[in-house]
Amino acid sequence: MTDSIRPRWVDFHCHLDLYQDHAALIAECDQERVATLTVTTTPKAWPCNRDMVARSSHVRVALGLHPQLVAERESELPLFERYLPDARYVGEVGLDAGNRFYKSFAAQERVFEHILRACAEQSGKILTLHSVRAVSKVLGHLERSFPPDQGRAILHWFTGTPAEAKRAAALGCYFSVNGEMLRSPKHRQMVMGIPLERLLTETDGPFVEQDGLPMRPRDVSRTVAELATLHGVPEDSMASTIIQNLKRLVSD
Ligand code: MN
Repeated sequence: MTDSIRPRWVDFHCHLDLYQDHAALIAECDQERVATLTVTTTPKAWPCNRDMVARSSHVRVALGLHPQLVAERESELPLFERYLPDARYVGEVGLDAGNRFYKSFAAQERVFEHILRACAEQSGKILTLHSVRAVSKVLGHLERSFPPDQGRAILHWFTGTPAEAKRAAALGCYFSVNGEMLRSPKHRQMVMGIPLERLLTETDGPFVEQDGLPMRPRDVSRTVAELATLHGVPEDSMASTIIQNLKRLVSD
C-alpha cells in the first residue's frame, strides 16, 4: 500500500462503493494522498471494486463478507474462496451479536472461522474486523485460528474494554479509530490505552457522519487532530505515527 505512495493520512476502513460518487472519491484520495482501504460487504462486489481501484495510487480494496449479511449471503462463501488468492486485504468480516443480527450468530461464527482458517493458510493477509457486541468471541476465534505469524488483524470500530484491548494487542492486532468512537468518554478512555504503535485511523464512511454529511476519507484528518489532543502531542507527530504504523503493517 505504501511502496509507490507517500500518504499524508490513513483511512483504513471505509465503504467507497456505497457513495454516489465512487470514482470521484478514489480520485480525491489520490489527490489528497489519503491511504485508503475500501472494504466490500459481499464477495460479489469484489471484481467491480478491484477494477475501480486498479490504477489508483492510494486506494486498496478488501474482499469481504459482512457479518450483518451472512444470513442471506452465506452461500457466497465459495465465491469468497475463489477470489481470496488475489486479495491481500480482507474485510469487512467478523461477528455481530447486536439484536438485529443475533439470529444468524451461529452462521456468522461458521463463516468467520472458515475465513480465518483460509486466510491463515494462504498467509500474509491483512484483515479489517467487525466485532459489535462480540469482542471476546472475535478474539477467541483469532487466538484459535489466525496465528500472528500468518497475517495481521485490525479491529475496526473496536468498543471492547481496556482489558480486551490488551488481549487484542497481545495477539498483534492493530486498531482503527473513527470520529464517532471518540464521542464516547468510555471509548475515549479505552483508546488512550491502545499502544501508540498499533493505532490507525478510519472513517467507516458513509456510516459515520460529521456535520450532517457522510464523512469522506480526507475528513480523517479531524480524527487525527482529536487523537493528537487526547495524547497531548502535536498533530503532525500523530499523523506521522499513524503513517509509520501503516508502513510497518503492510511491510511485515
Ligand atoms: Mn464498515
